[in-house]
Amino acid sequence: MRGLYLAGRWAASDGGGSRLISCPADGTAVRSVVEGSAADATAAVAAARTAFDSGSWAALPEKQRGEMLLRTADLLHRDKARYARAEALDTGKRFVEAEYDIDDVVACFRYYGGIAGTDAGRVVDTGNPHAISRIVYAPVGVCSLITPWNYPLLQVSWKVAPALLAGNTFVLKPSELTPSTAILLMDTLTEAGVPAGVANLVTGSGPEVGAVLASDPRVDMVSFTGGLATGKAIMVAGAATVKKVTLELGGKNPNIIFADADVEAAIDYALTAVFLHSGQVCSAGARLIVDAGLHDRVVDEIVSRAARIRLGGPFDDAAQTGPLISAAHRAKVHAYVEAGVAEGAVLRTGGIIPTDGELSKGFYYPPTVLDGCTRGMTVIREESFGPVMTVETFTSESEAIEIANDTDYGLAGAVWTSDASRAQRVAGALRHGTVWINDYHPYVPQAEWGGFGQSGNGRELGPTGLSEYREIKHIWQNTSPAPQYWFPR
Ligand code: NDP
Repeated sequence: MRGLYLAGRWAASDGGGSRLISCPADGTAVRSVVEGSAADATAAVAAARTAFDSGSWAALPEKQRGEMLLRTADLLHRDKARYARAEALDTGKRFVEAEYDIDDVVACFRYYGGIAGTDAGRVVDTGNPHAISRIVYAPVGVCSLITPWNYPLLQVSWKVAPALLAGNTFVLKPSELTPSTAILLMDTLTEAGVPAGVANLVTGSGPEVGAVLASDPRVDMVSFTGGLATGKAIMVAGAATVKKVTLELGGKNPNIIFADADVEAAIDYALTAVFLHSGQVCSAGARLIVDAGLHDRVVDEIVSRAARIRLGGPFDDAAQTGPLISAAHRAKVHAYVEAGVAEGAVLRTGGIIPTDGELSKGFYYPPTVLDGCTRGMTVIREESFGPVMTVETFTSESEAIEIANDTDYGLAGAVWTSDASRAQRVAGALRHGTVWINDYHPYVPQAEWGGFGQSGNGRELGPTGLSEYREIKHIWQNTSPAPQYWFPR
């Protein structure tokens, strides 16, 4: 049984137990993993601290660490089927989607491996011929990396790759529901040459393991992806020792369709915007905001197509999307739908938990459309993180922008229009970290990802995603020191 990887070895838990991982699609047992204890988390932090303080990892030329990332990408590519299968079984997502995810993980390691050594800081012009002034980078130190269950290895890769490139050591805690690919990754990193103690793993629960990783004084930085409430708790925990904290906390993302849009394309993308991976996507376009004149045409078509989306397990070739992650999560999603209806929304399709046949074995929830929504509703303000589209309408461009920005979050959104000036104007006005124009969902590891407002702080991916794992240091050298006698002799 695996789950605890400390100082380059698989270890037995100190006082912890075991947890059976089962597939959300049908409840079949996947594997047993270590349910780590607080003592395990403390030991993992010690291992990462010792490895960092030895100085040897940070002292390596960045290019050399980059080569390890490139080797990691090659090994992940080699083992793609194994990783994708593990990811599909843990999450219940379709195998083919899990394969796309592993491709994205490979791309992330390749990107950070590829930029190694390309930015060594800068020389500052001081105007003083006897001074050399340089800005250089140093690793932050020991990083706690805490990740969720929706894109398990992808979210791990967005943290692990830049953390390693910058010369940090880390302790990773994946979601207790989806630890399998994080376990595989430890062996892959070791095979790629990452030294013992640099990469450490503790599987287990947030309140037990995660809480230690967020508060241990020997941790310098916490990078977290997950829910808003947990993000706030992590920020508070980190405050005691002024840790660097970066957070990616989800969104309530608007998808705006103007009357002059390519309506057929907009409808098609509106479906994937919200129903991809059954809505368990931080950037899901859950809020459809449509020109009032287009409402009936767009919503009728979406409702008809949503009702025909086929649900099924990872290896069901006919399935178009999978289950939710857990019974508890499904209950939460359903409660949001019920709250929407109670507050006046019109349920156009979905909203009923399947109780017959194969689907009754998993945590399935049908694609759901709530029409006639308004800004004060709970389902508009809070993230359901399920396959739930809400529909709001507007009658002017400024109203569309106002509705889209009326959220505590600010992660992502889209605008559909054939007017290029309007597209740029609206994209510029949206207070969201990513804006797509006539598209939804694409991202590349070269471009920053993250949110405004309560969607978090800091950025992942791109050069900024690396900067988060670096301290910036100014080194000043006086090349011809001589007394100044500021204070007389
Ligand atoms: P959580 O925020 O609870 O979990 C994310 C990670 O944090 C998990 O590894 C979790 O551990 C850990 N964690 C939980 N409590 C603590 C703590 N006190 N200290 C440190 N770590 C902790 O998210 P959930 O997975 O439960 O999902 C809840 C909601 O979060 C979703 O419904 C959705 O709204 C949002 N979410 C957002 C995501 C995003 O991409 N931004 C991704 C996933 C969820 P454990 O293993 O115990 O869960």
